[in-house]
Amino acid sequence: MHASEERVALAEGLRVLGELPPDHVVLMLDAHGDILSWSVEAEELFEHNAADVLGRHVELLVTEHERAAGAVQRELDEAAAKGSVERTAEYRTRSGKVFHGITTVTSLKDVHEVLRGHVMLIESMSRQIEDRYAFKLEQADRVLRTAPVGVTVQDADGRMLYANETAARLCGYPSPSALIASPRGAILSRFALLDESGAAFPPDLLPGHRVLAGEEPDPVLLQVRERTSGRRWWSRIFAKAVRGASGRPELAINVWHDVTEEQRRKEQVQHLLELTAELVKTLDFEERLERLAEDLVSRFADWCAIDLVESGVRQPLVVRGAKPELLDELRSLASRRTDGSLAMTNIQPTLIREVRREHLQKLGGGTRCLELLESLRICSAIVVPIANERRSAGALVLATSQSGRVYDQRDLEMAREISERASGLLDNARSYRAALEAVRMRDDFLSVAAHELRTPLASLSLLLETLRESPAAQVPQRVELGVRLVRRLAKLVEVLLDAGRLTSGHLELELVETDVGPIVKEAVMRFAPEAELAGCELCVDCDEPCRAEIDRLRVDQVVSNLVTNALKYGAKKPVRIACGIRNDDLHIEVSDQGIGIAPRDHERIFRRFERAATERGFPGLGLGLWIVREIVAAHGGRIDIRSEEGHGATFDVVLPRSHERDVTSSPAS
Ligand code: ADP
Repeated sequence: MHASEERVALAEGLRVLGELPPDHVVLMLDAHGDILSWSVEAEELFEHNAADVLGRHVELLVTEHERAAGAVQRELDEAAAKGSVERTAEYRTRSGKVFHGITTVTSLKDVHEVLRGHVMLIESMSRQIEDRYAFKLEQADRVLRTAPVGVTVQDADGRMLYANETAARLCGYPSPSALIASPRGAILSRFALLDESGAAFPPDLLPGHRVLAGEEPDPVLLQVRERTSGRRWWSRIFAKAVRGASGRPELAINVWHDVTEEQRRKEQVQHLLELTAELVKTLDFEERLERLAEDLVSRFADWCAIDLVESGVRQPLVVRGAKPELLDELRSLASRRTDGSLAMTNIQPTLIREVRREHLQKLGGGTRCLELLESLRICSAIVVPIANERRSAGALVLATSQSGRVYDQRDLEMAREISERASGLLDNARSYRAALEAVRMRDDFLSVAAHELRTPLASLSLLLETLRESPAAQVPQRVELGVRLVRRLAKLVEVLLDAGRLTSGHLELELVETDVGPIVKEAVMRFAPEAELAGCELCVDCDEPCRAEIDRLRVDQVVSNLVTNALKYGAKKPVRIACGIRNDDLHIEVSDQGIGIAPRDHERIFRRFERAATERGFPGLGLGLWIVREIVAAHGGRIDIRSEEGHGATFDVVLPRSHERDVTSSPAS
């Protein structure tokens, strides 16, 4: 059925029900209240035949309780006094069924105002109606039975006369008849009814109840939680009254729209909006991560972990929820874990509806880790990637425990959306952090560069001052000193220019097949005076020939930069420069026996402006190794480092011998 056809069918079903006939019985009584007339309808309703009742007091028809209270006589007396009265009375049929009826008694008097009798109109509100309405309900059922909305019909006593299949399913019953057979109290006690804000909703305010009380309520939106299973659903309920002859509501038709999906989507959108608002409150990367975990634990999970690898470095695990002391231990276990137990790249979105031991075992991490995870009593879990393709990889892990919530496919979708949004926001924070870092580095660099340029300049100007008054014999020596200072200045300016060129990606190589040995030797020769000053012996060890396709000037620059460092950090010990061919690659190795570099700094010192030995009073711009790496990369090669603090350093430049398939310009970093 199409949605429009469904609507028409529903409307038709409701119309049939809406036209249900009123149900009433009229009795004639004498002045004492004895029954004078008995109709077919009365016989149907009360199951007594005329012979049983004619001439007997009308009290025969009500329950013991009514009789003991003298309610009928009082009603007759009141009618005699006032002309007419109306009340709801409790009747009992011959077979013992009790029902309520709205009773109107009108007294009949002659011209002398003498009471002659009564007319009693009984409108049945109960069980008997069902028999009468059965035909109509059956007719309506043909179109309502499989309608996509739940339909129930209740009588004035709140008893359910009809339910369709959707209503039965929504209420968790196997069939409409099972639902109808359940007493109202039993049905209601299965559920907790909550309003939109999550507060308890009193069953008396249900629209069906209110229309039977004569009101015309608006539809209500309810959250229904099945107490035993925890299943939740949202329903929009509206009710319509079917009125009897007197205009009183006799039946309530309830229509239940299942709006769980709609409501869930609304809540998700709201959650995403609020999460975004929460995350953008800070620009700090770590704080954003913490806030993300906190938010997720407050509404989507009982337990949340964010495991990230940033630029190849595993970050401290962010965990929220559960018992803090367990989490601390789990965190330290995770930080020790270096294997790929939760391989960070290529994480696939995964839903584990029911977490079992074997799932936890698969995570690895050893017996203690398994013990801890088991003590968290995880019942359901979701894993989604949280990553930025270029810079980071990681997993967002969500789990439930004490709430007993079982995740489903839609939760997985939601987790993906959250992670996508969070990834974007974390990326912003990351860029912001990188920008701050870049600004800090540039500022540091500017002060270092200014200092580096000022020192030789100051010496030079002092030298020129003294030159004027110098005795002629000392002039050549001082001029030589001046020339060296100017060379040093020129070299610094050259390095700065190079850095500028490399940053803007303009490193053009002129590749020529050359024997590299002589180039290395020549470069090293130039350093002889500096080596002497530094107190280091230089030894060159080059196999010949060492032919490779290289840019001569640039390779010269690589050797110069590495030798400069070896002399600077070489602690007056010998420096060895070697070149040769291994595995069809050209290797140029520069080794010293100086202060060395701690392994934690191996990666860092190749970055722009990064220095490791600043506090030991070595001047420098932090650009030499970066330039070396850029040149080497432009040749399609790499630079390896072997060093430990206090044990010297070896830099091994590896260049391909030929460039049939290669690039000639540097990647700007
Ligand atoms: P600079 O030497 O101007 O500081 P570099 O980029 O050439 O800049 O080197 C970066 C850092 O690497 C240096 O600051 C130093 O800490 C470290 N370094 C480079 N070469 C050596 C070496 N041969 N021995 C010890 N440390 C070195």
